[in-house]
Amino acid sequence: MSDATLDALYQEVILDHNRRPRNFHPMPAASCSADGKNPSCGDQLTIWVRVDGDRVAELSFQGIGCAISKASASLLTEAVKGKTRTEALALYETMHRVFTGLETDTAVLKGLGPLRALSGVSKFPMRVKCASLAWHAFKAALDGAGTVSTESGAPTPVS
Ligand code: ZN
Repeated sequence: MSDATLDALYQEVILDHNRRPRNFHPMPAASCSADGKNPSCGDQLTIWVRVDGDRVAELSFQGIGCAISKASASLLTEAVKGKTRTEALALYETMHRVFTGLETDTAVLKGLGPLRALSGVSKFPMRVKCASLAWHAFKAALDGAGTVSTESGAPTPVS
């Protein structure tokens, strides 16, 4: 497959997730959540995470922003679901290397599946923040930063 074909394929994944974001809703039963903001582009989102034991059982998000930020959040909610906390944090680290162009291991890149569609942002420094926003928010939620307890009322969705 030529680079141009591959780029077109990645483009299609991003457009699809932007048009039809997966898990795009608030989650009242979430264990934790965090808000993410990227003022340089105007992206804002909230990520909700339901943790079951050591597993990230469910994720959702809502927000406004560019196609890259929405697609990245949508892809994240699908990719991280069912992973253990350790696996999820390892994927966060990997994606950080992918966004900044530091991940060059072909086997690792191939193993990313649809997430690989986001690897193109490494060529566009402004877009790196858009792509990594959801991942930072996800980590903040797991770390308990920006946590909103469901006991004290549902978090206000950014819409
Ligand atoms: Zn953006």
